[in-house]
Amino acid sequence: MAIDTAPRSARRRITGWDLSVLVAANAVVVVGLWWRQGGLRDVHDLAGLLTSLGRVTGLLGAFLALVELLLLARVPGLDAVGLDRVSTWHRRNGTACLTLLLAHTVLITAGYALADDVSVTREAAALLTHYPGVLLATIALAMLVAVGATSVAAVRRRLGYRTWHAVHLGVYLAVALAFAHQLATGQEFQHQPVARAYWWALYGATLAALVAVRVVLPVTRSLRHDLRVARVVQEAPGVVSVEIGGRRLERLPVLSGHFLHWRFLAPGHWWETHPFSLSAAPDGRRLRITVKHLGDYSARLASVRPGTRVLAEGPSGGFTSAARRHARVALIAGGVGITPIRALLEDMPGEPGEIAVIYRAASEEDLLFREELEELSRRRGADLHYVLGDHRAGVVLSPERLRELVPDIARRDVYVCGPRSMTEATRASLRAAGVPARQVISEGFSW
Ligand SMILES: Cc1cc2nc3c(=O)[nH]c(=O)nc-3n(C[C@H](O)[C@H](O)[C@H](O)COP(=O)(O)OP(=O)(O)OC[C@H]3O[C@@H](n4cnc5c(N)ncnc54)[C@H](O)[C@@H]3O)c2cc1C
Repeated sequence: MAIDTAPRSARRRITGWDLSVLVAANAVVVVGLWWRQGGLRDVHDLAGLLTSLGRVTGLLGAFLALVELLLLARVPGLDAVGLDRVSTWHRRNGTACLTLLLAHTVLITAGYALADDVSVTREAAALLTHYPGVLLATIALAMLVAVGATSVAAVRRRLGYRTWHAVHLGVYLAVALAFAHQLATGQEFQHQPVARAYWWALYGATLAALVAVRVVLPVTRSLRHDLRVARVVQEAPGVVSVEIGGRRLERLPVLSGHFLHWRFLAPGHWWETHPFSLSAAPDGRRLRITVKHLGDYSARLASVRPGTRVLAEGPSGGFTSAARRHARVALIAGGVGITPIRALLEDMPGEPGEIAVIYRAASEEDLLFREELEELSRRRGADLHYVLGDHRAGVVLSPERLRELVPDIARRDVYVCGPRSMTEATRASLRAAGVPARQVISEGFSW
């Protein structure tokens, strides 16, 4: 059976590949600015070498900081790339960015100190007090170091999401603070109007993209479609479904499997956005999300009232039918990770027998959408398997169990969604069960 994975809209979408080419092309231009202004050609001694390397690492570090802001800004084009993959790019780009900026600071200070024949400490003091914008840039660097340090998994878990997120927001301020010293002291920009215009354009385009996707798009979409809470339904103890209604919802570029960042414009809710996946296929009449009480925000969601206006950023995530490459598929959910799986089961292409669902939950009471899943499985001719038991008590989906439940799993596309510890353990079991990594599409819900 031919798999029709074409998304609803036929126009060519920006892909992760397009964005990589754009980033690479600009990185070449950035290095070109440095080379055009001497590069290594003017190096006659160690001081010159250190300073020259200090300049190019600074330029590239600043450029990657802009890329870092865009990677998790839900820019179109990345919405078809899995969150797990974008988060990995974000992490790797962040490490490269911070390393380059720290190298820039050390190389420039050492190079100048050697050239001025003074101690590094004295040179650092001179840079901070006499060079325009360097003090602000140093504060910016300290903020980026704090962001990097608090993103180390163990530190982040200890800090908790809100504190980590607050520190992470500092990135925006740090990028703004560092801008002044680049144009003021950067050799590449002195009496170079074209280079200066290019640098302004890079920062301007990044700011415009951020404002467009994080503010303008969600607000205009909410107004155009009049997105409002239509219904709040208690699905189970500690779990609510929120149905969002509005006008012409069939025109929203959302697919089953997508998640969006939701902001409910009600007292006690409006200042936070949180990602929740659609828990039913978008049908043009409503969008449904289902939220498990995991912390104080998700607990408060039950109190949101019908009529509340909703801002939705996205859609995001590559956990859609567009990622399919094989006729047969297995959908694996852990806990509340059943939400996008339930939506996919509703409208993912597939003949009877081609779709298998494995739903892992701590106990029978924790099974969500049981009637809907059984009705959909009956209607679609899908195999539905419940695996009960707490993964903390060692009940995991072992390779043997996966092959027992879905004997031809190695020949299927496999979608896995749930807490990150579950998706990572299941990915390992799938690999051991012979499923090639390219056939596994996963989405982790939390750290
Ligand atoms: C792509 C994606 C899709 C998701 N879909 C669903 C869903 O359909 N149903 C559901 O119940 N949950 C879903 N979640 C998880 C949900 O976003 C968190 O449980 C919720 O944000 C918790 O917020 P809190 O304040 O209640 O809890 P907190 O105690 O603040 O957080 C609990 C955990 O949730 C995660 N988290 C908290 N805030 C955010 C945030 N703004 N962004 C990302 N992660 C956060 C953190 O890992 C944190 O450790 C999804 C998460 C992601 C990343």
